[in-house]
Amino acid sequence: MSINDNGNHPVVPFPDKKINVNLDDCENVKCEDCESDEFEIVWILKKISAVLSTTGKPELLTLEYFKCKFCGKRLNIIRRNR
Ligand SMILES: [Zn+2]
Repeated sequence: MSINDNGNHPVVPFPDKKINVNLDDCENVKCEDCESDEFEIVWILKKISAVLSTTGKPELLTLEYFKCKFCGKRLNIIRRNR
Protein backbone atom coordinates (compact mmCIF):
# COMPACT_ATOMS: atom_id res chain seq x y z
CA MET A 1 0.00 0.00 0.00
CA SER A 2 1.06 3.56 -0.59
CA ILE A 3 1.59 5.79 2.40
CA ASN A 4 0.03 8.66 0.52
CA ASP A 5 -3.43 9.35 1.80
CA ASN A 6 -5.63 8.97 -1.24
CA GLY A 7 -8.87 8.93 0.73
CA ASN A 8 -9.27 5.17 0.83
CA HIS A 9 -7.83 4.61 4.27
CA PRO A 10 -9.47 5.17 7.58
CA VAL A 11 -7.75 8.18 9.10
CA VAL A 12 -7.35 8.35 12.85
CA PRO A 13 -8.56 11.76 14.01
CA PHE A 14 -5.94 14.02 15.54
CA PRO A 15 -6.03 15.08 18.28
CA ASP A 16 -7.70 12.02 19.76
CA LYS A 17 -11.38 12.49 20.38
CA LYS A 18 -13.01 11.48 23.61
CA ILE A 19 -15.07 8.37 23.08
CA ASN A 20 -17.96 7.11 25.15
CA VAL A 21 -17.66 3.41 24.63
CA ASN A 22 -16.41 0.62 26.78
CA LEU A 23 -13.24 -0.51 25.06
CA ASP A 24 -13.73 -4.01 26.44
CA ASP A 25 -16.68 -4.28 24.06
CA CYS A 26 -14.59 -3.31 21.06
CA GLU A 27 -12.71 -5.67 18.88
CA ASN A 28 -8.94 -5.28 18.58
CA VAL A 29 -7.59 -4.61 15.12
CA LYS A 30 -5.46 -7.56 14.12
CA CYS A 31 -2.65 -8.00 11.66
CA GLU A 32 -3.96 -9.63 8.50
CA ASP A 33 -0.92 -11.86 8.26
CA CYS A 34 -0.09 -13.03 11.77
CA GLU A 35 -3.20 -12.02 13.79
CA SER A 36 -1.10 -10.06 16.26
CA ASP A 37 -2.95 -7.15 17.84
CA GLU A 38 0.15 -5.12 18.71
CA PHE A 39 1.44 -2.42 16.41
CA GLU A 40 4.22 0.11 16.33
CA ILE A 41 4.04 3.62 14.96
CA VAL A 42 6.33 4.64 12.13
CA TRP A 43 6.76 8.31 11.29
CA ILE A 44 7.12 9.70 7.81
CA LEU A 45 8.13 13.31 7.37
CA LYS A 46 7.05 15.03 4.20
CA LYS A 47 8.71 18.23 3.04
CA ILE A 48 6.25 20.66 1.55
CA SER A 49 7.97 23.17 -0.67
CA ALA A 50 7.26 26.87 -0.28
CA VAL A 51 5.37 26.81 -3.58
CA LEU A 52 2.90 24.18 -2.39
CA SER A 53 2.64 25.30 1.21
CA THR A 54 -0.35 27.39 2.27
CA THR A 55 1.89 29.71 4.29
CA GLY A 56 4.32 30.40 1.45
CA LYS A 57 7.16 28.88 3.49
CA PRO A 58 8.57 25.37 3.40
CA GLU A 59 6.74 23.14 5.89
CA LEU A 60 7.00 19.68 7.30
CA LEU A 61 4.01 17.39 7.33
CA THR A 62 4.06 14.34 9.53
CA LEU A 63 2.38 11.09 8.69
CA GLU A 64 2.21 8.11 10.96
CA TYR A 65 1.41 4.62 10.01
CA PHE A 66 1.13 1.49 12.07
CA LYS A 67 3.23 -1.57 11.52
CA CYS A 68 2.73 -5.00 13.01
CA LYS A 69 5.13 -5.45 15.90
CA PHE A 70 5.80 -9.05 14.99
CA CYS A 71 5.80 -9.46 11.21
CA GLY A 72 6.22 -5.83 10.14
CA LYS A 73 3.15 -5.70 7.92
CA ARG A 74 1.73 -2.23 7.49
CA LEU A 75 -1.72 -1.60 8.80
CA ASN A 76 -3.97 0.27 6.44
CA ILE A 77 -4.55 3.16 8.81
CA ILE A 78 -2.76 6.46 8.59
CA ARG A 79 -2.61 9.18 11.16
CA ARG A 80 -1.87 12.65 9.98
CA ASN A 81 -1.05 15.91 11.63
CA ARG A 82 0.58 19.14 10.65
ZN1 LIG B 1 1.76 -9.35 11.69
